[in-house]
Amino acid sequence: MKVLICDPIAEDGINMLRNNRFEVDIKTGMEKEELKNTIKNYDAIVVRSATKVTSDVIECAENLKLIVRGGVGIDNIDVNAAKEKNITVLNTPTASTVSVAEHTFALLLSLVRSISLADKGLKEGKWEKKKFKGTELYNKTLGLIGTGRIGLAVAKRAIGFEMKVIGYDPYLDPNIMVDNGINPVDNLDELLLKADIISLHIPLTEDTKHLINAEKIQKMKDGAILINCARGGVVDEKALYQALISGKLAGAALDVFEQEPPENSPLLKLDNVILTPHIGAATKEAQKRVGIESAKTIIQFFEKK
Ligand code: NAD
Repeated sequence: MKVLICDPIAEDGINMLRNNRFEVDIKTGMEKEELKNTIKNYDAIVVRSATKVTSDVIECAENLKLIVRGGVGIDNIDVNAAKEKNITVLNTPTASTVSVAEHTFALLLSLVRSISLADKGLKEGKWEKKKFKGTELYNKTLGLIGTGRIGLAVAKRAIGFEMKVIGYDPYLDPNIMVDNGINPVDNLDELLLKADIISLHIPLTEDTKHLINAEKIQKMKDGAILINCARGGVVDEKALYQALISGKLAGAALDVFEQEPPENSPLLKLDNVILTPHIGAATKEAQKRVGIESAKTIIQFFEKK
């Protein structure tokens, strides 16, 4: 069986595949035309978020039986086109949960304590002790939109910081929230009204595109904070920018963008925004888990065939 690795995964996963007699080729950073030419001969491919497996790419896949997305979101894969060609799409849903939850907190703490601005100032030779007046997380209400794996992991950490946690997830049994110390709210507007800090942990789908738009931002508390470690398209960035310059929102922290990288985005110029280049899952531990879980997924899939 031939496996093509299109985005970097940990060596451990590649070794596991080779030890199980898979022929593995690693070709990362391919342009679409190269991918279309290369994909022809492979039985399985592994992608992360960078490679876009669009319908025209799938059209060229003559032997392909399995696409593994190392990570969670499968919005870079045309799942319907794959289904039509009887190609299975699987992901490694738990590999990056902790890393993304920790990154959410890294962004949140950096934002409320102005860590990146303070660090920048000090490195420029300034001692701006009076300039930065942060806010505590203690006793603040964190509103989680989406309380699946990452949402629940964020809640656990928030409870450690003695925050009050409320959650909105219409597809999840509210008892799961209650069991995890989250107060479920009945609808999104209630969450927007009550939360001091709103953190998104939902997939990007047709239903969630621009879920956070100008109208929803208007319903948030004045001075609220928005964190997005989920997917760029879930937030309307133009509306977010307006809310940040008007002062409606006190700040935002984003790991993901409607367009990545977010070239020429006005958000790049704002001081009350912290931005990271989609690195939520970029830890040694998560990378290792993604590699190993991708390899196990491929091995198990072909064992069953
Ligand atoms: P998950 O499937 O376990 O949880 C997602 C939850 O969102 C589900 O419980 C679902 O019911 C809920 N949901 C769906 N639509 C909703 C809506 N309209 N309103 C409220 N809730 C809704 O997924 P997860 O593992 O927790 O991951 C969440 C998201 O995080 C992924 O879809 C992915 O986009 C993102 N992610 C980002 C990174 C990163 O590097 N920043 C890494 C991994 C995952």
